Amino acid sequence: MFGTRFDLFQVAGFQLRADISWFPIVLLFTWSLQGYFREQLSPDYADWLYWVLGFVTAIGLFVSIILHELGHSVVARRHGVPIQGITLFIFGGVAELSGEPKSPRSEFLIAIGGPLVSLVLAIFFLGAYQVTQRIQSPDFLVGCLQVLGRVNLAVLVFNLIPAYPLDGGRVLRSILWSYKDRLEWATRVVSKIGAGFGMFLIIFGVLGIISGEFGMLWFAILGLFLRTAAQMSYRQLMFRQALEGETVRHFMNPEPISVSPTTSLEQLIENYVYVHHHKMFPVVDNDKLIGSISIDQIKSVSSDERSHRTVSEFLRPCSDENTIDVNTDAAKALSIMTQSDNSRLMVTENEELVGIVSLKDLQKFLSLKMEFQED
Ligand SMILES: [Zn+2]
Repeated sequence: MFGTRFDLFQVAGFQLRADISWFPIVLLFTWSLQGYFREQLSPDYADWLYWVLGFVTAIGLFVSIILHELGHSVVARRHGVPIQGITLFIFGGVAELSGEPKSPRSEFLIAIGGPLVSLVLAIFFLGAYQVTQRIQSPDFLVGCLQVLGRVNLAVLVFNLIPAYPLDGGRVLRSILWSYKDRLEWATRVVSKIGAGFGMFLIIFGVLGIISGEFGMLWFAILGLFLRTAAQMSYRQLMFRQALEGETVRHFMNPEPISVSPTTSLEQLIENYVYVHHHKMFPVVDNDKLIGSISIDQIKSVSSDERSHRTVSEFLRPCSDENTIDVNTDAAKALSIMTQSDNSRLMVTENEELVGIVSLKDLQKFLSLKMEFQED
């Protein structure tokens, strides 16, 4: 879903990140808001004031979005669902939950946490707008508060549309889930609504573009994003359920090919990467697992340097991101792979290397299992 992400700072114990797609959006918002203020406000201000106002309001919008996501995150943390962090991206923000809520009640409260914050913000900004207007404050302050109030209201209303993965879709899922006690069925229903709503936005956007409104392209892209996200969430849930109760031992290759730390990079590429076609190899020294080496880590080493540099200089020590215990749930392995972008994990038993589990093997099992489950 995301491209390159940058860590910004911690808020209330959550890591705030910005996806690369967010930066042009700040500029776009600043630019369109300064244009808007130029039309709405007194024309006598200095040119820079419209720009500053545009920028400050754009930042105000994103602060509102961060607060909305914090609303979800704080409730999620209280209900035992770990949060990966909050990421700002082209369509706003997202609080990344690493797991499903444990009960319909948790789901409902986590889903409603964000919109409640937006409601409070909308009331606050629209109230402040009314007051400042009545006491005849400077028009740039009044205008800025009005925009912030309206946008928070729009965020609230849009998110309450019952199309999963929008908040309204999650609320609906929690209601369906408590009604029938089947999370998988509830997810399927709301994902279908989500995918349908995405399709509606795509058609709406395309019709707009045809009639000459090129700004409507936005809706088409948003629709495509929501449609994909709805379908992906359902598939992920199915995957997670299919893998539940199966341990990593069941899927691993018990005879992993490992390299020694004294292997040169040249040998690694010629005798391992080109022969076995793996992206990552465990590094073993005297029967002891000491880390992993992947081609991403050595890509930047020039070809004439590769003969005298060794694996030991580049190896990555064992961590939760590349190593997993043999008795761990396979669903956990899948979520580590998706979060860390490592498609192969080293499997250990009593800290000794006993195998390798790969995304490809998990997927093969899942696609077989899906074929027998389809209804
Ligand atoms: Zn939300």
